Amino acid sequence: MRKVLVGALMQESNSFSPRPSVWSDFHAVTGMDMLDRIAATPVFAAAGIEMVPTLYAYSVPGGILREDSYLRFKKQMLDCISDDAALDGVWLYLHGALEVERIGSGEADLVRAIRQKVGVNVPIAVALDFHANNTQVLMDNANIVYGYRTAPHTDETETQQNTARLLIRCMEEGLLPRPVMVRPPLLFPGEMATTGIEPLLSLMREVARAELTEGILCASFFDGMAWVDAPNSMASLVVVEERGMARAEKEAKRLAGLFWNVREQFRFEEETAQPEEAVRMAVAEPEEPVFITDSGDNVTAGAPGDSAYFLQLLMENPPDRVLVAGIAGRRGMEACQQVSVGGAVSFDIGGEMDPDGVVIPLNGFLKWKGKIPDKSGERNTEAAVVEVKGIQVIITAERCAFVTPESIESAGVRITDYKIVIVKQGYLYDALRRVSRRSIMAFTPGSACQDLSRFSYKKLMRPVFPLDKDFNWDVPE
Ligand SMILES: [Zn+2]
Repeated sequence: MRKVLVGALMQESNSFSPRPSVWSDFHAVTGMDMLDRIAATPVFAAAGIEMVPTLYAYSVPGGILREDSYLRFKKQMLDCISDDAALDGVWLYLHGALEVERIGSGEADLVRAIRQKVGVNVPIAVALDFHANNTQVLMDNANIVYGYRTAPHTDETETQQNTARLLIRCMEEGLLPRPVMVRPPLLFPGEMATTGIEPLLSLMREVARAELTEGILCASFFDGMAWVDAPNSMASLVVVEERGMARAEKEAKRLAGLFWNVREQFRFEEETAQPEEAVRMAVAEPEEPVFITDSGDNVTAGAPGDSAYFLQLLMENPPDRVLVAGIAGRRGMEACQQVSVGGAVSFDIGGEMDPDGVVIPLNGFLKWKGKIPDKSGERNTEAAVVEVKGIQVIITAERCAFVTPESIESAGVRITDYKIVIVKQGYLYDALRRVSRRSIMAFTPGSACQDLSRFSYKKLMRPVFPLDKDFNWDVPE
């Protein structure tokens, strides 16, 4: 029976977040239980392949990962590869924009270490997020590199499974392909690069079409992750050919040229506005609910999620029936633990993780308290709903990304009771789009601020569009 080592380590980093990520931010599962967390399991099982489990570790996006925390995960994975493992393949599900303190790209370091352990003749297949900041080290050590085709992401399962199928093909046909990467100097915030609209709608079709070229195994476009200050933060095209690299190189260059040529057409899919204007637009909108995203403090892009900037703005002139979902604040949670539902509660909210974040005093009433699941749905966090000046605010002990109606409503509220819902996202997640009548992205300050020129990048390769505009780039010969 053939044997495949499987593992997953997923976190998107934001190097502008003041709060580093640590081991305990992850939900980690080891042993056979991890096989239930990855979508490749049924594909390998159906092919009669034995899986050697290592680790599944997932965290909501956050600040750069502490070196010791990363090394602990790396060791956990490597320790599962015994010297007599006799592996036929390695399948990994990684984010691609994991930035580790002092190490840099976590994916590059991890895949290189696994390669050293398994040797050059075992194919390694890596499934990645659309926002991966790829490296040549990763290309040199993996045989298959395959990414999501959608943003907002809806094809996580498919991508994992396709990557597993490609690995099986490599094993069956004795292929050891070498991925080819071409990087056009583009780096868009994720909100400017969504696949439901042009130019990406057509470009992603072109990427899919490249896979129909004889001899090409797979082709992917990666938007990159703009809030990581690293030399590898940039868009990339990755094409993998069965044998050799000539056709892959030709396709990757051709695609990179197509992306570069339409760079001026990238734009925000969501309606956008300055924060005050976003509130005015939502109030004037006859349909409801209207979702406003507090994009600068976007938890799903790694921002702390503890800024009270938007709440402060709302409190100046509170609109009717508005829900803020949510703000991370341990001080607030501790205050809420001391009172019963209906009681008065006072605490400072904001700026617990971000020293530059807005902090405001909040004097309100406790409406609800309990536990809610975090984004992974794997763990619970303490939460409370506090009403202040008619505004309802979900407070959470941990950083929380409210990306589904169920996650919001787990805090004892009903979305249909509100006219306006504020969430800490950039583009509105798909499940929320389905229940919203209108969504407006507010340009708020924070570590995921949409105006990249506000950040002082030190390691990023320049020039890169749209941060830099007046330069030319020719597809490499
Ligand atoms: Zn992503």
